Amino acid sequence: MAKGRMAPKACAACRSQRKKCSDECLIAPHFPSDDMQRYSIVQKVYGFNNIVRMLKDVKPEQRGDAVNSLVYEARARMEDPVNGCARVVHELQKQIAELESQLAAKQEEIMNMHFASENLLSVDAGHVLCATSPQSEYSVCEEVDPMMLWEPLWAV
Ligand SMILES: [Zn+2]
Repeated sequence: MAKGRMAPKACAACRSQRKKCSDECLIAPHFPSDDMQRYSIVQKVYGFNNIVRMLKDVKPEQRGDAVNSLVYEARARMEDPVNGCARVVHELQKQIAELESQLAAKQEEIMNMHFASENLLSVDAGHVLCATSPQSEYSVCEEVDPMMLWEPLWAV
């Protein structure tokens, strides 16, 4: 099966610096050498020392997320050197604002429907009292034979 000693597997950073990777290498868990391009993009944008500094600054359990964020930001910076991922953030914020205003409009619609159903028709001795909508100043009240209301049911 395995022939002799396994070659020590260097991470992408150590491999690009042509040095051996140690068990203490901070980079190793996050930038394996089988994806050199992923590391090289981040290295070009941030530089090796900054990557190491940022990894040291965050808790070990948050380093995976931090690295994913660095990769994302570095790729955005390569695609759009001026704005980087700020453009994407701005677009998403615009979308959120649009969706929030759509949501507010739908909530108002629902409120009005609740109001209408609660006050729909109160049949009292032949009087149909119509509700005023919250926006309108007037109400239309008609006098109707209550039996008329049931007519559609008989027709079925
Ligand atoms: Zn390494």
